[in-house]
Amino acid sequence: MVDKLVNSEANTRRIATVESCFGNSGQPLEVPGRVLVGEGVLVKMCRKKPKTRQFFLFNDILVYGNIIINKKKYNKQHIIPLEEVKLENLEDDNQFRNGWLIRTASKSFAVYAATAVEKQEWMAHINKCIEDLLRKSGKKAVEEHAAVWVPDGEAPVCMHCKKTQFTLINRRHHCRKCGAVVCGPCSNKRFLLPNQSSKPLRVCLHCYDVLTSAAKNHNSATDNSHKDRNNADSSGEEDSDDDDETNRGQPESHDLPKFYGDSERTDDLH
Ligand SMILES: [Zn+2]
Ligand SMILES: [Zn+2]
Repeated sequence: MVDKLVNSEANTRRIATVESCFGNSGQPLEVPGRVLVGEGVLVKMCRKKPKTRQFFLFNDILVYGNIIINKKKYNKQHIIPLEEVKLENLEDDNQFRNGWLIRTASKSFAVYAATAVEKQEWMAHINKCIEDLLRKSGKKAVEEHAAVWVPDGEAPVCMHCKKTQFTLINRRHHCRKCGAVVCGPCSNKRFLLPNQSSKPLRVCLHCYDVLTSAAKNHNSATDNSHKDRNNADSSGEEDSDDDDETNRGQPESHDLPKFYGDSERTDDLH
């Protein structure tokens, strides 16, 4: 059980280690009641290609970052409140296996584990944390989730007009509503998606039509009224933080993920 780790010295030490690995690039992570449940490396599907990222599962947040030096130094810290997270299974295909979606109102993406067992472990632990949190807070799971972006490489031509070929000049854009890769003219409209940003965001022409007619039908500001969810990514433009190439510390050999909450692993309990 995770609960018995709350006030353990081992937990405090592990959280301090995570903090020091992120150094100044990260937020303070030690909060009363917080437990580090597990950690490990997952492959995260980013805009251009899949990239190795270090993940830390706490009982209330999921944290990930770029690996600068394996097990020593990370940066580009992202923190996702687990209350907002919903996992969705992904079936294996030829290219990508052992994956699932991490979906929140403001951002959704796919991750992949090295093996089916690790995938199962990660998903079970994350789901357990979400369940416990929602039960304790009495809140409901978030229903609406941001679109998962189609990776650039999967769209040689615009997914809306099916004509425009992408080049250095004809750049790819992502619709913030459906995640499709579209050309500039097919995404020259903006629409307010309050869960993602306080500013109107780029949407494809198809989504723009759907959104505007839905807004007309409701004709009350209900859907677009501001909810005070986190307005990360308010720039509304490219998700560049995931795309840098500083990721040179990728481990060659595979380390198994560690989960500290697993019962009877007495070596972890102090
Ligand atoms: Zn187009
Ligand atoms: Zn769209």
